[in-house]
Amino acid sequence: MTRQRTLRQTVAATGIGLHSGAKVEVSFRPAPANTGIIYTRTDLNPHVSIRCEPDAVRDTQLCTALVDLNGVRISTVEHLTAALSATGIDNLYVDVNAPELPIMDGSAQPFIYLFESTGVVELDEPKRYLRVLRKVRVEDNEKWAELNPNEGGFQLDLTIDFDHPAMDRELQHFRLDFTGRRFADELSRARTFCFMRDVEYMHAHHLAMGGSLDNAVVLDDYHVVNPDGLRYPDEFVKHKMLDAVGDLYMNGHSILGQFRAFKTGHALNNKLLRALLCDEANYEVVVFNTSAQARAIEFLDTKSAVGKASLSY
Ligand SMILES: [Zn+2]
Repeated sequence: MTRQRTLRQTVAATGIGLHSGAKVEVSFRPAPANTGIIYTRTDLNPHVSIRCEPDAVRDTQLCTALVDLNGVRISTVEHLTAALSATGIDNLYVDVNAPELPIMDGSAQPFIYLFESTGVVELDEPKRYLRVLRKVRVEDNEKWAELNPNEGGFQLDLTIDFDHPAMDRELQHFRLDFTGRRFADELSRARTFCFMRDVEYMHAHHLAMGGSLDNAVVLDDYHVVNPDGLRYPDEFVKHKMLDAVGDLYMNGHSILGQFRAFKTGHALNNKLLRALLCDEANYEVVVFNTSAQARAIEFLDTKSAVGKASLSY
């Protein structure tokens, strides 16, 4: 049986909030089977919890934010969610003492490191996957994203379209047959990116006060500004794919299907997931009861994990 997963033990991390620039503390606690991913704002009295699900995504400006019906928000969840997808964690309590998760280094790698180091355990319930049964497509002018049936696991094919001297045309398309290891090796370190002119605008309006060269790739009109350059030659398209992995895991179920997209972003990815789920003819929930059936997706294996992790950014 392919089983649900959670963390082996509680682990914490600290970092900077992208919006506020203030220090944020987050802790990750093991949760029982069928809990899902539950975020709790521990800075509010009483605490407010929000279940991570596609309908709770109500703001996709700058990042993905979960917002409850009273307007309580938890922002910048997408890179964490991508890391949960790769490690196969479908049950977790995430306690955070601010309206946003720490941005860490702008990628998913710190969370992958934290979860691999802490260890992931299997629970006594079968893991539920969403298998795409028929094509679902959403569009926004020339941008589009679609999910198609796929024999086997989760395949991603994404194209971006930037006309910028530092963004090579040859490096604006990427395809990946998703496994936890391939995510960790090929996508997880890709950082979010932005343009200098946008940074100046945002800072003038007191937005993204925590954004810096420590947690984003910044481009001026000609170059990458970061002194150490890029982590991958195609870091831009890889980060967009990382975002899509996180956006499509907002209900905590791994997708069995093919994702294809052109110039997509958080808003369109969320619209696609909602479109998939709004008609039960589009998908089926499947479990794998025997290991022979479990050909779906390999998640990061953390059985050899040792020691206790802690992270501070
Ligand atoms: Zn991102």
